[in-house]
Amino acid sequence: MTTKSASSTDIIVAGGGPAGCTVAIGLRKLGYRVALVHAPRPWQTCEGISARTCEGLRNAGLLRALAVVPAASPRRAHWNGESNTANTEHLVPRQAFDAAALADAAAAGVELLPGRLRQVDDSTGADLCLHIEPPGGTATTLRCRFLVDARGRASAGTGDQQLRGPETVSLLQLRRGSPGATGSGVTSFADGWAWLAATADGLRFIQLTVTAADNRLPKRGELNRWFDHSLAQLPPLPGLELPGEPLGNVIARGSTSILQGELVTSHTLRTGDAAMAVDPLSGNGIFQSLSSALIAPAVINTLLQYPQERALAAQFYRDRVRHTFLRFARMGRDFYRMETRWPAAQFWLQRQAWPDQEPSHADTAPTLLGVESRPVVAGDRICARDVAVTSDQPLGVWHAGGVELAPLLRDLPDIPEQRRRLLASRLAAACGGDLTKQATLEAWLRRYRVL
Ligand SMILES: Cc1cc2nc3c(=O)[nH]c(=O)nc-3n(C[C@H](O)[C@H](O)[C@H](O)COP(=O)(O)OP(=O)(O)OC[C@H]3O[C@@H](n4cnc5c(N)ncnc54)[C@H](O)[C@@H]3O)c2cc1C
Repeated sequence: MTTKSASSTDIIVAGGGPAGCTVAIGLRKLGYRVALVHAPRPWQTCEGISARTCEGLRNAGLLRALAVVPAASPRRAHWNGESNTANTEHLVPRQAFDAAALADAAAAGVELLPGRLRQVDDSTGADLCLHIEPPGGTATTLRCRFLVDARGRASAGTGDQQLRGPETVSLLQLRRGSPGATGSGVTSFADGWAWLAATADGLRFIQLTVTAADNRLPKRGELNRWFDHSLAQLPPLPGLELPGEPLGNVIARGSTSILQGELVTSHTLRTGDAAMAVDPLSGNGIFQSLSSALIAPAVINTLLQYPQERALAAQFYRDRVRHTFLRFARMGRDFYRMETRWPAAQFWLQRQAWPDQEPSHADTAPTLLGVESRPVVAGDRICARDVAVTSDQPLGVWHAGGVELAPLLRDLPDIPEQRRRLLASRLAAACGGDLTKQATLEAWLRRYRVL
């Protein structure tokens, strides 16, 4: 084993998916010397993303990755016996996408280190000691001040500190059919659901998501036959021609919803799927991985540069990730509840009850609860600011339309006429004649029934 004192590196990011590349680029922008240890996934897959995720990629600076995302194509859904053809999604070839995200990181000045993080030793003083296994090379030891774990679902779990959904596995197969229209579809069946995608060049990506809890899956050697049989039982999705000739064996990907414990310590932070991995039914995994990765650089910068705010920054990160995880888990639960054809099937019963009975969208008529001090991302750091706490945004909203809300909302009189007059003068002062800004703020105030 060679030991490299990576004295030129402040922070090492392990994992070169969208989350790792986003954090690495964000940390470079803050002036840190960053190295990214990456071991690409060895198999091809395709995932569907929304226009909102594309916007997130742009915000993250992943422009080369965005360039490999094709135009949106139709997404059919066959759920609870009903068909819907109203939606679209972008079908992302993950290997090309991940390679382009690494190129984005390199262009931002991140040092790329091919290899696999094997072990972390924090017993050597102020620095962390990382054991890296390069592809086909001699194991290396690297030192750094801070480690970002962005290894996705491959990251070591945090045991009983985790919050886990029903145990789930997704079985994938890449096939080749005849060239035709690009499109995707999701369909439910008694034991789970399937996502199917066809690209114009004839590739087919087929993914069956089923329970991993009760040993109902066949042994590895029988998986291909089981997959063929299950596929033959699926209802046809009009407009999607399947299944094509297999291009390899069926691959199993764990897809249980997992919120890890210990998301942040004084010298480590988990991000993306390594922090929280959502049910793939949401089609929002990449978006969620970006959501934690985009705030992580300010959290890490606060941990390293502003010791008095460390606890606040750590709490901010834990709360945000947990809040997002539960919101998506509840939205997923509600989507599972829309399927009513198999009321006794374990797969559906478990997912229709998890994580709890709390509503997913807190309110259809949300209200302002008050103005309180909460941690926010302020430029390159986390600090406490007065924010508007609402029934659907319990972590608080700092700005609307680019204007700080707290000064508008503090000490409003109860008498409606007085309140309206005071708000009108505060709005005029805050917007300085900018009518678009004023309209955005008025809409916000009406939504929360302040106006
Ligand atoms: C079955 C399934 C279907 C999905 N479908 C969709 C979808 O349609 N749309 C969507 O938006 N999301 C989807 N997702 C979720 C999406 O894949 C993830 O949310 C997203 O890729 C997470 O990004 P990440 O950067 O956190 O992790 P990843 O993208 O998983 O990246 C982690 C990287 O770290 C590498 N790595 C692992 N171990 C090590 C190590 N020891 N050292 C160095 N590198 C390492 C991995 O090879 C990988 O390159 C799906 C997930 C599953 C399981």
